[in-house]
Amino acid sequence: NLSSRLTEVANFINKGAKFADIGSDHAYLPCYICLKDKTARAIAGEINEGPFNSAKNMVSATKLNDVIEVRLGNGLEIITQDDNIDHVVIAGMGGSLIKTILEEGKKKLTDVKRIIAQPNIDARNVRRWFVSNNFKIINESIIEENGHIYEIIVAEQTKSLQMDILNEKELLFGPILLRNKKSEFYKKWQHEYEKMQQVVAQMKSAKVRNTEKIVQFEKELVWMEEEL
Ligand code: SAM
Repeated sequence: NLSSRLTEVANFINKGAKFADIGSDHAYLPCYICLKDKTARAIAGEINEGPFNSAKNMVSATKLNDVIEVRLGNGLEIITQDDNIDHVVIAGMGGSLIKTILEEGKKKLTDVKRIIAQPNIDARNVRRWFVSNNFKIINESIIEENGHIYEIIVAEQTKSLQMDILNEKELLFGPILLRNKKSEFYKKWQHEYEKMQQVVAQMKSAKVRNTEKIVQFEKELVWMEEEL
């Protein structure tokens, strides 16, 4: 049984997709998709031997060797032009790592239509990368599983210049999550608010004050107050 986090990611993969799952670990996501959709094709990428072997074993166990290829390598470097990948999934990592993978692999994304990212933290980094690289955020989702709250961001490549540049608040909270606030949104930001209040209090009582950071965090606290 696939986790509800990965099931939600899977909901954003179109039928018949040719997708790359970067950092696939056990290849649960590509196996789930390809068992359901006989027309889907996948490449599972892994940088580490252990998860790479787990992925290969899972693909063999589910007899999906004809439709899922498992490749060892860093980020998007495992993709070639001939793969004709139209979706890229990067899930279960920090937002700054996801951003780095996208930035380092930019050239491999020319023909990619959709990217589905599920940053565990720092989603803002991913949104910022999308808006600066002609990917438009077309959907977002927020779910809770086992006491963790996860955000999923879906972006599509636009050839035209983006007119709807996101403001700082939309980058932090998510433009779509902000428009349609769910209980998970309130829960997450209430928790972040309390954490940040403590951080700011500590920073203020420190011998050496990082004024710039304190100002930034206090600004974010006000944004949270406005939205909670
Ligand atoms: N995507 C799966 C999920 O969401 O459940 C697995 C998430 S797991 C926590 C992160 C995986 O990403 C690990 O298996 C790790 O080896 C892999 N990884 C980390 N950095 C990577 C990179 N630069 N390129 C490819 N895989 C990477």
